[in-house]
Amino acid sequence: MQNRPLSGKTALVTGSTSGIGLGIAHALAAQGAHIFFNGFGDAARIDALQQQTAREFGVITKYSNADMSAPADIETMMLDASAEFGGVDILVNNAGIQHVAPIEDFPTERWDAVMAINLSAAFHTTRLALPYMQKNNWGRIINIASVHGLVASAGKSAYVAAKHGLIGLTKVTALENAHTGITCNAICPGWVLTPLVQKQVDARAGSRNIPTEQAKKELLMEKQPSGEFVTPEELGAMAVFLCSPAANQVRGAAWNMDGGWVAQ
Ligand code: NAD
Repeated sequence: MQNRPLSGKTALVTGSTSGIGLGIAHALAAQGAHIFFNGFGDAARIDALQQQTAREFGVITKYSNADMSAPADIETMMLDASAEFGGVDILVNNAGIQHVAPIEDFPTERWDAVMAINLSAAFHTTRLALPYMQKNNWGRIINIASVHGLVASAGKSAYVAAKHGLIGLTKVTALENAHTGITCNAICPGWVLTPLVQKQVDARAGSRNIPTEQAKKELLMEKQPSGEFVTPEELGAMAVFLCSPAANQVRGAAWNMDGGWVAQ
């Protein structure tokens, strides 16, 4: 287990107690990275997740319950990561929420929450992670944006604005560190069947009184020509590639994995 490509590195994955973040955390652990988990959920389940990851991949795992909408929590989490591991070598900004409503009905407190968690949190983690990466002249920052960082859908004003902003932040971070061993890129998934999307499937099934399986198919066919969900495992493999030497010159990219969504 010693000579894996990411042995000795530490990866902090925000929002890694579920869905895409968990898939990425497992993929990085499989390459030998120690994992700093973050996200919400049942304490016993998170504890089991940490132990199972440590056992299966032979890495050290830690956890922070920091709320990504609270800059003070983020500062504490980054200090904890420094105390535990010296610093963060791989930062995956993944935590995110969704709210769907037309602009005129969009609750302002939901707008603020989407902006804080999906965009501002990445600014805070990045600014706090960079000094350690710069000291080592190596780092990987991976921002989980979305196809909604590249194109829009009605009803998702806050999410689309935040994800477009996250791709902007990705480019600036990449440029400011372009002369170093630190890269920053965004991954832009299409539909992935996680709890975040299951809520949208359930809302569609409920409002149209159709079976869940039909709601899933309709959701996919509207936007995603492959007709198949992207998986957390596929996204994890992309994150591993971005951490590899082969990706040394991939800088400021917004890489869609979307079953053809934005090719249309
Ligand atoms: P998910 O709901 O399964 O997971 C979200 C994670 O973020 C969970 O671990 C949750 O606990 C955590 N989280 C939520 N609010 C938080 C907060 N305030 N502080 C800390 N952690 C918080 O969702 P997912 O689908 O895995 O989404 C992960 C990322 O991928 C999001 O940024 C989302 O926008 C993006 N994304 C998802 C899809 C998709 O189809 N599922 C597509 C494109 C992009």
